[in-house]
Amino acid sequence: MKHEPIIGLEIHVQLKTKSKMFCRCSAEIWNEPPNSHTCPVCLGLPGALPFPNREAIESAIIVGLALNCKPEKESKFDRKNYFYPDLPKGYQISQYDLPFSRNGWLEIETDGKRKRIGITRAHLEEDTAKLIHAEVAGRRVSLIDFNRSSIPLMEIVSEPDLSSSQEAKNYAVKIQQIVRYLNVSDADMEKGSLRIEPNVSLRRKGVRGLPNYKVELKNINSFRSVEKAIEYEIERQGRLLERGEEPIQETRGWDEIKLRTYSQRTKEEAFDYRYFPEPDLTPFEISSVLIDNLIKKMPELPDQRKERFQKEFGLSPYNATLLTSQKELADWYEEAVLAYSQTEVKGIKAKLDPQKAKTVANWMTGEFLRKLNETGCKVPNLAMTPAHLAELLYLCEKGQITIAVAKTIFSQIFETGQKPSALVAQKGLGAVKKEKLEELIESVLGENQKAVEDFRKGKKESLEFLVGQLMRKTGGQVDPQTAREMIKRKLS
Ligand SMILES: [Zn+2]
Repeated sequence: MKHEPIIGLEIHVQLKTKSKMFCRCSAEIWNEPPNSHTCPVCLGLPGALPFPNREAIESAIIVGLALNCKPEKESKFDRKNYFYPDLPKGYQISQYDLPFSRNGWLEIETDGKRKRIGITRAHLEEDTAKLIHAEVAGRRVSLIDFNRSSIPLMEIVSEPDLSSSQEAKNYAVKIQQIVRYLNVSDADMEKGSLRIEPNVSLRRKGVRGLPNYKVELKNINSFRSVEKAIEYEIERQGRLLERGEEPIQETRGWDEIKLRTYSQRTKEEAFDYRYFPEPDLTPFEISSVLIDNLIKKMPELPDQRKERFQKEFGLSPYNATLLTSQKELADWYEEAVLAYSQTEVKGIKAKLDPQKAKTVANWMTGEFLRKLNETGCKVPNLAMTPAHLAELLYLCEKGQITIAVAKTIFSQIFETGQKPSALVAQKGLGAVKKEKLEELIESVLGENQKAVEDFRKGKKESLEFLVGQLMRKTGGQVDPQTAREMIKRKLS
């Protein structure tokens, strides 16, 4: 290909504040009956005055700080004027030249390569109402739900530094991870609390500067679609350029079923927003005291935590990445490591044992994540606790149960939250005692004379067969290594 993709992302994040951006209506609107969270302000009635939400502004600033933006000293809201049925005021309160945050960056990793992506700006605005197209009494109508009107919305705009669909996806996933770590948004694409709009253009390789067109993509509702829509555009624009045509500047929608983009609006139809300062809201001065307080409140972010997990617990980069992908998962892991380290030395803070930390990590990236994906459960709602996993691993470590048994009962503990030791006792799953084992081996050898003879003649595989027979007889309640040695001893 003679051309290279130039990609930037605009990401809208709905903030989860208690009340809306400019009024006191509750912002908890998910699954609420339409138009049940409204007042004159968010309905856009004449004469109603906006009142800014402090929590939303603080959330916007803290996201900016996490994205390495330099704190701004002043900021203001502006009116963005356009007409649309979901915007009854005829304008949206947004930010134009003085957003809360500017000039930051975010590091992403793609195929083991790290890259810094510039953040142009992160500003705050109000969400619009929601149009619902439906059929009522045989007629097609459009209904408006004002619950979403004036929900605080943050727009994070990246520099056009991304050069592949995969980089764009990784960047978007990372933004989601950060706002979730900061606990300022659910950032759930399915619920629309995270919306991604890529802009894509192609530039001839070796040429500097940006192309003089760009195509903005809308209606994307999953990370998978972000990748697919960008890939489709790269191909489409590439074909045009190969033919000597320049793609036009336009907005295109993503068709999830046909897996293609389609033209929605061209440059000629673009809105002229006629921004001007919002006269009903005074500008803000942002004090260094507020910034300092927000910095103090900032939790450990995913990258820092990943690095610490590698250093403190000796985890591989792969396991550390997996376990820090969600804050709740990382918290659960650390609690399990602590509980496991304290199984013997109770009461006092036991030293964290890196070996135990690795064992916990292996179980969590294996059985635990498998069950989590299978059941679709969320970490905070699990029946199984970190103490359960710690106990299970302790029982294995002390030889009271075998790993095979631990894996079998893991599922049940995960689903029911039963205590591992109680479950082992109830089901009689404890490892077979030595005297009993001798007895069982005798009977296996007696029942499999042919294999015994084969082994004595030098057929090594026969030993594995005998071990297998013993495992079957005991339902996996014997450690295979111990069994192998004992059988070998008897036959030599
Ligand atoms: Zn309201």
